[in-house]
Amino acid sequence: MTAAVVLGGGMAGLLAAGVLADHVDEVVVVEGDQYPEEPGARRGLPQGHHNHLFMKGGADALDELLPGTTDLLRAAGAQQRGLPHDILTRGPRDWFERNPTDTWLLLMSRAVLDHVVRGQALRNPKLTVRQHTKVVGLVGDARRVTGVRVEREGPAADAEASEETLPADIVVDATGRSARTPQWLEELGVPAVEEDKVDAGFAYASRWYRAPADTPEDFPGVMIQVQQGTGRPGRGVALLPNEGGKWIVTQFGSKGGEPPTDEKDFATYSGDWDHPVIARLLARATPLTGIRSYRGMHNRWRHYEKARLPEGFLVIGDAFAALNPTYGTGMTVSARSALVLRTELRRTGLTPDLGRRVHKGIAKIVAFAWQSSAGNDVLFPGAESTLPVRAEKFQTWFGARISQVAARNRTVSNTTFSVGTFIAPPTRMASLGYLWRILRGPRRPALTAEQAIAQFPGFGTLIEDPAAVPVSHPSDTGRTR
Ligand SMILES: Cc1cc2nc3c(=O)[nH]c(=O)nc-3n(C[C@H](O)[C@H](O)[C@H](O)COP(=O)(O)OP(=O)(O)OC[C@H]3O[C@@H](n4cnc5c(N)ncnc54)[C@H](O)[C@@H]3O)c2cc1C
Repeated sequence: MTAAVVLGGGMAGLLAAGVLADHVDEVVVVEGDQYPEEPGARRGLPQGHHNHLFMKGGADALDELLPGTTDLLRAAGAQQRGLPHDILTRGPRDWFERNPTDTWLLLMSRAVLDHVVRGQALRNPKLTVRQHTKVVGLVGDARRVTGVRVEREGPAADAEASEETLPADIVVDATGRSARTPQWLEELGVPAVEEDKVDAGFAYASRWYRAPADTPEDFPGVMIQVQQGTGRPGRGVALLPNEGGKWIVTQFGSKGGEPPTDEKDFATYSGDWDHPVIARLLARATPLTGIRSYRGMHNRWRHYEKARLPEGFLVIGDAFAALNPTYGTGMTVSARSALVLRTELRRTGLTPDLGRRVHKGIAKIVAFAWQSSAGNDVLFPGAESTLPVRAEKFQTWFGARISQVAARNRTVSNTTFSVGTFIAPPTRMASLGYLWRILRGPRRPALTAEQAIAQFPGFGTLIEDPAAVPVSHPSDTGRTR
């Protein structure tokens, strides 16, 4: 009888558990929280109050791991939008032309996403979840992990009876951003694992709205991305359609550019972008919740791929690399990492070097996401970083140039977004044709905000009546400009 124990039943943990079930007799997922019966918030997933998007490369992986999941999500109301064809997008420099590409985003609340993924994963009869149960340590030594120490939580658990050891042939740690893996490994005598961290001090503020009754089905949503390398804090916003006629609005900013959290400023805020499109849309929408904020969005990569870890133990998801959510890559990296686990298990099964091989594969996926996340964040004022900042001027110039050309050129737009959403390999951005177009630069002027908006009949009359809508900028609300 072989057993796997997965620590944490979030996105990475459940996907890994489904993969492991094909190779062991039973899989136990240890989850500190109680899952809600219906789609809803839970304590262990505070990010659930904020905007979530699943990139096509992640959604494809989800369907490979749990077939039919994205169809179930669409049936539950998830909205698919081509990028940038179906979303009004302002990149770090310019407004995007509405070019078709091969890629898209799936938009829905985290509550619905998790409910559907959980339902799919837990249909597997080999899989059980111990809810309300907290992992407190590993069992074994620096050579091999043989189990996990857990503690039952909640009023029913009396202190003595609540501690237990779960034996395991393999332990997968998916305890997320707050993972205590380094301490657990230290207790087994494992030398400290190298860690990189980049913190640009990003903050989120989010609110749910009921869309106006006359919102068309193809309402595009709006994404305004942060600008790095300007010497000023980055500021951005996403207003995205979700299931059930709802909009989620998430304003975000790096250190010194934190978004407002009071109702009046939130509704009128127009950051440092050149059109009050968000304020006009919000003037027509009905708030459904208060404003929730989130901090602690640093990038942190624990280099397990370089470490000598005990056999029978591996790490996946945010516990391996937590990325600034502003770039929307975390769940896609988790899903693609679960595919790496599947490939390696299919190749050789539960071998002693499984962890090493899986960590190397995950590191390749993380490396690309890290570059677009931590690599950008080091360029914001006040960013704290363990990385040496090299060629900052070139990096800023090159990033801006890609964004300017992609905003106008259909081929460059397709390559940039396809690579960025993990459906094409990063080497596509190193092809001669791509690089030549970037170096040549934009061939026509950028769209004005009005021209960009006019590309989308889906806005209809929603953003007319500008006179009625007050607008505030960071300088009006006391934030630095
Ligand atoms: C504000 C915010 C917005 C985000 N938006 C996006 C987005 O738009 N797109 C995207 O792709 N990604 C996004 N992410 C990232 C995404 O949430 C994570 O990458 C993804 O959830 C990875 O999941 P995970 O399973 O590794 O960690 P989590 O989802 O955090 O799951 C960890 C699980 O472990 C449990 N746990 C923790 N410690 C213990 C313990 N000691 N014992 C037992 N259980 C434990 C927790 O309860 C939780 O269920 C966002 C993140 C944040 C913070």
